[in-house]
Amino acid sequence: MQTYIAGHLNNDTDSVVSAIALSYLEKKLGENYEPSIVSPINKETAYVLERFGFSVPANIPGGDKKVVLVDHNEPSQISPSIKNEEIIRIIDHHKLGGLATALPLSVKAEPVGSTATIVADIFKEKNISPTKEIAGILCAGIISDTLNLASPTTTEDDKKALDDLAKTAGIDAGELAGEMFQAKSDIRGIETSELIEKDYKVFSMGDKSVGIGVWETMDTGTVLERKDEIMSSLENKKDKDRLDLVFFAVVDIIKNESVMFAIGKDEADIIEKSFDITAQDHLAALPGVVSRKKQIAPAVEKALLLSLPLPG
Ligand code: MG
Ligand code: MG
Ligand code: MG
Repeated sequence: MQTYIAGHLNNDTDSVVSAIALSYLEKKLGENYEPSIVSPINKETAYVLERFGFSVPANIPGGDKKVVLVDHNEPSQISPSIKNEEIIRIIDHHKLGGLATALPLSVKAEPVGSTATIVADIFKEKNISPTKEIAGILCAGIISDTLNLASPTTTEDDKKALDDLAKTAGIDAGELAGEMFQAKSDIRGIETSELIEKDYKVFSMGDKSVGIGVWETMDTGTVLERKDEIMSSLENKKDKDRLDLVFFAVVDIIKNESVMFAIGKDEADIIEKSFDITAQDHLAALPGVVSRKKQIAPAVEKALLLSLPLPG
């Protein structure tokens, strides 16, 4: 039976390049793992694949298969094409999010800045050298997730891995980061509904379902000028997906700050409790906040759980 490697819904650069690099590594080890995507790729990922000469992996098929999950483990972030009992292995750098599996499986979870960092580590463990091109896309995975080592999610492992991989790839990581950020900041042709859903995750917090979208850009103005459309897209999404709360942050990857949308009173309350700041005209400026994983989601979860009525 064919084994596929799959990233999370709304695949990002880290999940796609980790799938491709792991597939290369496993083939060297005699395992036939196919990389796959579970949703259309974003402009940054498209740029990276083209830059290093890779084609876009095919969509994960339905039907019977085995699956390696990379870059996620929360049930709400797994493609509906993947059945629980198909999952044989997980490689991730997120908190564990409540997945109960049907079968025993192998899990490698490390608190580092990107899954690409963990995949680069496995290359070392197995004593296999990545090609220049594989090293290049792994650099891109690290740069994308850590905002070129500026995000608070960055660890020493990520810095070391990026340095080593950039040497193998023969590239300047700073230049690659600039090109990637340029690619991801171009929102021409992107619908507003897509803007809020492209880098978007759903979390279960207590008994609440909370959607958090982020949009990383060098040019927040082009996103914020669509404020009214963003507000109504978020309202639609909250309704359609029956979310208890929905958040969207426009992340300025140059200034290291965000603007968070508070579409209603519930969201405004949680933002106030999470960040000790009051939203004005449905917007809250959050200096130093750039990471959903390490800053936004934990702060929202803490505020939300504190504000729930105590059981009994
Ligand atoms: Mg990811
Ligand atoms: Mg990642
Ligand atoms: Mg990201």
